[in-house]
Amino acid sequence: MLGSLMHPKYQAYSLKTIFKNEKVSRALSADQKFAIEVVGRVLPFKVDNYVIDELIDWSNIPDDPIFQLTFSQRVMRSYRQFNLVADALRRGETDDRMTLLVNLIRRELNPHPAGQMEHNIPVINGHELRGMQHKYRETVLFFPARGQTCHSYCSFCFRWPQFVGIDELKFAMEETAELVDYIRAHPYITDLLITGGDPLVMSGEVLRAYIQPIISSGIEHLINIRIGTKALGYWPYRFTTDKDADALIRLFDEIMEQDFHLSVMAHFTHPTELRTNAVRKAIARIRNTGAQIRTQSPILRRVNDSAEIWTQMWKEQVQLGCIPYYMFITRDTGAQDYFALSLEKALRIYQNSCAQLSGLAKTARGPVMSANQGKIEVSGVAELPGGKIFVLKFLQSRNPEWLHQPFFAEFNDQAIWFDSLTPAFGARQFFFEETGVKKAGVS
Ligand SMILES: *Cc1c(COP(=O)(O)O)cnc(C)c1O
Ligand code: SF4
Repeated sequence: MLGSLMHPKYQAYSLKTIFKNEKVSRALSADQKFAIEVVGRVLPFKVDNYVIDELIDWSNIPDDPIFQLTFSQRVMRSYRQFNLVADALRRGETDDRMTLLVNLIRRELNPHPAGQMEHNIPVINGHELRGMQHKYRETVLFFPARGQTCHSYCSFCFRWPQFVGIDELKFAMEETAELVDYIRAHPYITDLLITGGDPLVMSGEVLRAYIQPIISSGIEHLINIRIGTKALGYWPYRFTTDKDADALIRLFDEIMEQDFHLSVMAHFTHPTELRTNAVRKAIARIRNTGAQIRTQSPILRRVNDSAEIWTQMWKEQVQLGCIPYYMFITRDTGAQDYFALSLEKALRIYQNSCAQLSGLAKTARGPVMSANQGKIEVSGVAELPGGKIFVLKFLQSRNPEWLHQPFFAEFNDQAIWFDSLTPAFGARQFFFEETGVKKAGVS
């Protein structure tokens, strides 16, 4: 019995099975269940037994931050959308009509923000490489076709179209050979970021099939391999007691042995995720291979919208040997309205948190918007004789020349995303808009 508690077997709950879990069923009212069902028809829903048994505090529903993060709330753009689905459910609408309605709403939710579909797909020999994105010169993103799911789903996630079966929207590629050719042909690429979904939902064997050809390709300009994952937050047993945890760790060893820098880009949203025995063992095991763990998270209302939470999170991460990396603003898609907070509030939380941290924990940059033009940092608010302005700068951009050139927007305490900002000082456009959107050097 104790053994099974310490080595749980991964179990995912879907919308169909979730209320059969006793803990969940007892903690939720009929209204809460109905709301979860309505939203779950539109946004993908999946929660695993680690999240239910070790992360969520079921005596603190609905306020528990991890509950807010994973159990779809009333998060659609508008109550109109919620009510459309709620009414259809109450009417007992036919499957066909329900699918039609749900797909309509999904399309309204801006499935691929920031021009991902149009701008960032690399081309080689006139052929589009669908499982890749290349936006910033040094770093190519790779979405292994079989890593397009996660151990649990975050309600805010902008990757959700990849989980709900709208096939034409799915970035996916089975072929690593094309990736290797592409990297070889672009000598300024230093980083490969393997992402998803969560690539660590794949078995060690499948992961090896993807990674082996890359690390043995002998491409000298490729030096950093990054793996973006939420497994430390949602299923740390992936690194410790899972059937092929050892195979995964061996693969990390092999990457290191080939003289790559390996960085696990871990997505942690709340300090709770750092406090279980399972995650601590997993972190120690990864670090033992020589790999670094860098951490990132969006800042979300109802989940982590206070300086205390970020201070605590970054402190504990540093103590565990992780490197704080990015604080993101939630993207302009899907569930944004429910979780969004103003740029001003996010900035204040970032600054207040940094003010309480030593330099070791101040390595995270933020708050950052991953916008069409690039990663835009809200650097501060400046008080000028004419009023307040936002000071902004690119941390990454399609055009590397835009970097580190501060630019300015009218202060706006309601703005939650870049597109609601206007240039300061009466300028008609931001400096980078004058030449039009230029593609990164990806030809
Ligand atoms: C964030 C991001 C990267 C990586 O940027 P770093 O600042 O190097 O971490 C690469 N490509 C895309 C499209 C990104 O959004
Ligand atoms: S773990 Fe990442 S990719 Fe997966 S649902 Fe959450 S935010 Fe999206």
